[in-house]
Amino acid sequence: MSEITNSNARPAQPSLSALTSCMSDYDPHAMPVKQAQAIISACITPVNAIEKVALRSALDRVLASDIISPIDVPAHDNSAMDGYAFNSADLRHDADTVLTVAGTAHAGRAYQGALASGQAIRIMTGALMPDGADTVIPQEFVSIPAGSQAAFITIPAAAVKPGANRRLAGEDLQAGTAAISQGRILRPADLGLLASLGIAEIPVRRRLRVAFFSTGDELRSVGEALDPGCVYDSNRYTLYGMLQRLGCDIIDMGVVGDDPQALENAFRSACENADAIITSGGVSVGDADHTKQMMAQLGDVAFWKIGMRPGRPLAFGSITSGGKQALFFGLPGNPVAVMVSFYFFAREALLQMMGAQAAPLPLMRATAAVGIRKRPGRTEYQRGILSMNDGQWSVRPTAAQGSGILRSMAEANCMIVLAHEQGDVASGDAVEVILFDGLV
Ligand code: AMP
Ligand code: MG
Repeated sequence: MSEITNSNARPAQPSLSALTSCMSDYDPHAMPVKQAQAIISACITPVNAIEKVALRSALDRVLASDIISPIDVPAHDNSAMDGYAFNSADLRHDADTVLTVAGTAHAGRAYQGALASGQAIRIMTGALMPDGADTVIPQEFVSIPAGSQAAFITIPAAAVKPGANRRLAGEDLQAGTAAISQGRILRPADLGLLASLGIAEIPVRRRLRVAFFSTGDELRSVGEALDPGCVYDSNRYTLYGMLQRLGCDIIDMGVVGDDPQALENAFRSACENADAIITSGGVSVGDADHTKQMMAQLGDVAFWKIGMRPGRPLAFGSITSGGKQALFFGLPGNPVAVMVSFYFFAREALLQMMGAQAAPLPLMRATAAVGIRKRPGRTEYQRGILSMNDGQWSVRPTAAQGSGILRSMAEANCMIVLAHEQGDVASGDAVEVILFDGLV
C-alpha cells in the first residue's frame, strides 16, 4: 500500500449551529427523521486522502477516482461458441451450404491467414475471429458429409443469422470510456472488471477512523462479573459489527462511567485520534444534562428528540480538541435503539465521509401478515420476519418490540418501516421493509 496524499487530511465540518439557526422549522424537541437526516448530510465533508492498494485489497473499499478503460474489452473480435467460423456472404438461403474446413482456431492460438470464399474454420470459444469471417455456427448445427473426414461441413438453410455468435471488440468496454465511477464501494464484480482491464493498483479513499465507547456506570464488559443491578455492555459489540461491515478502522475505547471528567477525557482522546466518534447511552433526559454542559465547551453539538421509535434521543454535531475536529453521534443507550439510530443516521453519514456514492437502502413492499399498531406522528422501525407465502412476500413483527430487547433484532430478518404519517396497519395491507441482507 502506498500513500499518495496526506492521510491525515480531515476537512472541517460545516457548523451545525450556523446551519440550524436559519431554519424556521427547527425544533430540537420534535425532529422528524427526514429533517434530522438532511441536517446531518449537510454537515458532512468526505475525507479526501487517497492511497493505492493492490487489486484484491480494494474489495469493499471506496474507489477514489474514475477508472477509464485503457483497452477495448474484449480486445479483438472472437467466437462466443465452439463451432465453425465463416463469411455470411457464403450462406445460401434456399438450400444447404457446404464449406471447406481450412483449419482450426483455439483460444489464445489464432488461425494464421484469412478465409477465402467457400471456406470455414473450426473455432473454439474465445478464439480470435479470422479475417474474412463474420459468423459462427455452433458445432451441433452442422453436419459433416459422409466420407469427407471433417474436410467439409454442411450448414442447413436458415440455421444461423449473419453475424451470429461473434463477440465484437469493445462490446464489454471501449478504450477511453469510464469503466467504474469514483465513490463506488468495490464489489467482487468490480474486482473482476478491473482485472479485465489489466489494472493492478487501485486508488481508494483512506479508511475512516471511528472511535466508539459505551457510557454508563451500570455497564460491565464481557469477562467481568455481573454485579447486582449491572448489565453487560452489548452496544460495543453491535457497533463493532456494524462499523466493521462498513469498512471503518475502529478504535474501541471500552466503557466510560457517568463521570463528567472521565467523559471529557474520553471525548478529547477520541477526537484527537478519529474522524468520527460514536457513543451509546447518556443522551436521554436527565443523563444528557452533564453531557450537554461538557459538549458546550468541546464542540458544536445538538441534542435532538427524534420523532421515531425506537431511538428517540440523539446527539449530533462536531467536537474539537487539540486542534482536531471529529464528527460526533451520541446514540441512545437501549440496545435496539442504538442499532436503529446507527442504521438510519450514522450509517449514511459515515458512508458520505468515506466518499462513497451509496444508493439509498432499497425498500421492498410486503403484505402485513397481522395487524400492526402504529401512532401517526413518528417513524417506526419495527423488527420483522419476512417470508414467502403463496408466491407473495409477507411480513410479521417479531413478538417483542421493546427498544431494550436485542433478541428482536437477532430474530428479525428485516425492518418494517412505518412512515411518519402512517396509522394502524390492517392485516393484508402493504408495508415497506428494509432487508437486513446487504445492510448488516
Ligand atoms: P441511557 O440512554 O444511558 O439512559 O441507557 C438506556 C438503557 O440502555 C439503560 O437501561 C441502560 O442500562 C441500557 N444501556 C446503555 N448502554 C448500554 C450498553 N452499552 N449495553 C447494554 N445496555 C446499555
Ligand atoms: Mg446511561
